[in-house]
Amino acid sequence: MRKKIVAGNWKMNKTAVEAFVLATEVAQLVKSDVPADVQVIMATPALYLTGVSQVVEGISNLAVAAQNCHEKASGAYTGEISAVQLASAAIPYVLIGHSERREYFSESNEQLALKVDAALANGITPIFCCGESLSLREGGNFLAFVADQLTASLFHLSAEEFGKVVIAYEPIWAIGTGLTASAGQAQEMHAHLRVHIAAKYGATIADDCSILYGGSCNAKNAQEIFAGPDVDGGLIGGASLIAADFITIAKSF
Ligand code: PEP
Repeated sequence: MRKKIVAGNWKMNKTAVEAFVLATEVAQLVKSDVPADVQVIMATPALYLTGVSQVVEGISNLAVAAQNCHEKASGAYTGEISAVQLASAAIPYVLIGHSERREYFSESNEQLALKVDAALANGITPIFCCGESLSLREGGNFLAFVADQLTASLFHLSAEEFGKVVIAYEPIWAIGTGLTASAGQAQEMHAHLRVHIAAKYGATIADDCSILYGGSCNAKNAQEIFAGPDVDGGLIGGASLIAADFITIAKSF
């Protein structure tokens, strides 16, 4: 059975005090309100990972994630953080290939494959982000484009390795824009990706793979989007910065 997951991507938001307050509010609400079978994740700025780890300690369905990692283990890469370092701080998840990383930091499919490898080699679960631009959506070739992103960055993995990856489908045109993919558009892509995964790794691995939707998902629309049979939760940007909204989303299955 695949996991239901709601992951918040805080991006470059919150001061240290605000981050502590938000994490504490989320922790309290997860304990009191969120069913145990929903895994909640907070992808915080790197600076706050260890502090927020302490806040979530002992809550079995709440964890932290890094928003990125470097593909090399160590070395002269000023400003970067490796998967080895994340693992040494017991960080269990890492976002890989968010569209903002692809666009603003020119991360290629090939580099993302190396980052996925680094995460898995260090026992960290990659949450692999994929998604098409508006022009690709309008051009009509978006299903194949996103499937190709998986092929390029994930399909070198063994079946056992692939089984540890979480996928987040995030149409770029819906991120931070208030434009959400319709429940039907999300389901269409998720089903397509699952078929694509099944063709490579078989039905069992495809069935067990959690595929999250991201892109202006909020407390009002999450229930409709999560109702899609192939939608296993969400990667949430803006709405993850308000604890009550984020928790409403986590309760939307
Ligand atoms: C994101 O950046 O991953 C995201 C989904 O953002 P938002 O929810 O704000 O669109």
